[in-house]
Amino acid sequence: MAKKIIITIDGWSSCGKSTLAKQLAKSLGYVYIDSGAMYRAITLYFLRNHIDWTDAKEVADALENIHLHFEYNPKSEQSEIFLNEENVEYVIRDLVVAEKVSDVASIASVRTFAVAQQQKMGAGKGIVMDGRDIGTTVFPDAALKIFMTADIPVRVERRYKEMIEKNPNVTMEEVKANLEMRDHIDSHREVSPLRMATDAVLLDNTQIDMLEQLDIALKLVAKRL
Ligand code: C5P
Repeated sequence: MAKKIIITIDGWSSCGKSTLAKQLAKSLGYVYIDSGAMYRAITLYFLRNHIDWTDAKEVADALENIHLHFEYNPKSEQSEIFLNEENVEYVIRDLVVAEKVSDVASIASVRTFAVAQQQKMGAGKGIVMDGRDIGTTVFPDAALKIFMTADIPVRVERRYKEMIEKNPNVTMEEVKANLEMRDHIDSHREVSPLRMATDAVLLDNTQIDMLEQLDIALKLVAKRL
């Protein structure tokens, strides 16, 4: 049987991490896991249930009632996230969730909850997981770690194009402010801040397209196999 590895893709918001992760998983026949979707789904639960996330007891009780799982949808050709049996893959992409997710993801007990599940998902290898702390905390021994970056204007434009399709009222300024806010909180939090792992490969996709980026990543995979 072919050797299977764990591939981690971390980096700044809207650098195309999930695009690359999905392409890689498809080319290699691996499972793709969007760890950000887990933090977004937890945030959605907190918002809907008016959880005061500055209160440790409320957070602990809420986490007891949160069940997350991914299911492959052959139509969209991707794994979609379920929060307590409800498919929330699309609603978690809303700006309302994006405004709060980095605060929720800074809470230590929330991270412990999510990381434990992520580590279980990687137990069988053959996985591509993207996020902020996958190469540093979730799978520090992963065979291939990629850290993605791109210039801010490019990232803002890409995310804006994605969001405007779902919400015609969203503005470029809002999208930019949200990206910068999340990057700041994600890289300054106490627990597992966004960092490039010392053994990660830096991939800046400001000037390259999706196919070139996949080609670079597949060459990196080939070296590890
Ligand atoms: O990847 P995505 O942009 O959907 O992630 C949403 C948010 O979830 C990030 O801005 C970050 O606050 C949090 N996150 C995290 N650790 C991860 C993945 C996402 O803290 N591994």
